[in-house]
Amino acid sequence: MSIDLMIHSANQVLTLAGDAPKRGATQGDLAITYSGDGAVAISGEKIVAVGDTLDLLALAGTHTRKIDARGKIVLPGFVDAHTHAVFAGDRANEFEMRLRGATYLDIQKAGGGIMSTVRATRAASLDDLIAQAHARLDTLLAHGTTTAEVKTGYGLDTATELKMLNAIAALAAEHAIDLVPTFLGAHVVPEEFRGQEEEYVRVVVEEMLPCVRNWRLEIGKPSPQSPVSNFQLPTSNLQLLISNLYCDVFCDDGAFTLAQTRRILTRAKELGFGLRVHADEFANLGAAALAAELGAASADHLMVTRRDEMRALARAGVVAVLLPGTTFGLGKTNFADGRAFVEAGVPVALGSDLNPGTSWCESMPFVLALASRYEKLTTAEAIVAATINAAYSLGIAERVGSLAPGKIADVLIADVPDYRHLAYRFGTNPIETVIKRGRVVAGA
Ligand SMILES: [Zn+2]
Repeated sequence: MSIDLMIHSANQVLTLAGDAPKRGATQGDLAITYSGDGAVAISGEKIVAVGDTLDLLALAGTHTRKIDARGKIVLPGFVDAHTHAVFAGDRANEFEMRLRGATYLDIQKAGGGIMSTVRATRAASLDDLIAQAHARLDTLLAHGTTTAEVKTGYGLDTATELKMLNAIAALAAEHAIDLVPTFLGAHVVPEEFRGQEEEYVRVVVEEMLPCVRNWRLEIGKPSPQSPVSNFQLPTSNLQLLISNLYCDVFCDDGAFTLAQTRRILTRAKELGFGLRVHADEFANLGAAALAAELGAASADHLMVTRRDEMRALARAGVVAVLLPGTTFGLGKTNFADGRAFVEAGVPVALGSDLNPGTSWCESMPFVLALASRYEKLTTAEAIVAATINAAYSLGIAERVGSLAPGKIADVLIADVPDYRHLAYRFGTNPIETVIKRGRVVAGA
């Protein structure tokens, strides 16, 4: 076997190895091996060996590119379990309103909030949407994110929701980052349906969900009629896009009720979607318990979740996706209680919640810094949450999220002597080199 790339002599290699989501006592299991002389060997886009430097260098050939990681650490690429990375425009004006005391709901009632991004996204061309998101994905990648979930939800009509899905597919094809799409037609009730909320839910259930399912089937067979016929998806990215399509609902005050959320997610499940839910961000409407009942892949935000609901998530194997960037972005202090989720035995994952309203955060290292301080996760627990557990929440843990032979070679080199520095330092980028599918895409 020919080794194309060899990282060697690392202070620590965090393999994150294991064959199940890490929870409870194993939430902080980094599976560090080969301390002091760690090496990773890569052939093509796959990892072929993780071991100590002397053993692995013996496999190197004359053409093998070698990267010396002396004094540094090596870890899997970050998996961002929750983003709204595709959107048009910005909401800097609302940020200023919040600084002067306006609340999220005040801003929404004044016509701002999610609807202002919906108007900008509806007005943007597909190419413009792709270009704006492409620049953000470059920043994510430079900060170590090699796989990201991306939600729709700034269209809120069938045509614009499909435009967002096409933007995600185009970005998956042209950008190094792998993307997992989530349909979030139930983000808020759009202004043209004000007073007719049940009618909008009917549109989501009866029109949008079947359309999105058909989009997923169509994208698998590009043709002149296909919405994505103007580019070729690499087979590997295509597999990710069509094998993992999720449906999410924002269940909260000012968004969707528990009954509406149940109706949408139940139909989505029947149509073959995996389920995620924005639960307990502002008000507890019972969405976490619903996620457990329906066997959702994840419940996200969870800032006001009760202990009995945490235990229900643990029993059902639902991954808790915590988003400390949002709490910080809103200037609030009621962070999700990560420690309580770990103690309840819920596998905890992290996401940036990258979005223009509450969390324009493109840095998973900054998310680690917040999660350790305010959500009471240890640094090791936060790293697990940002890699292998996030991959489990997206159904792609057999391919990414840890360093093991056969996995996709998504590998980071951080210029720190010890993993604890990833959360200990903040405000700068500790990620020096990013390797995506065996290719150096940033640094080195
Ligand atoms: Zn979100």
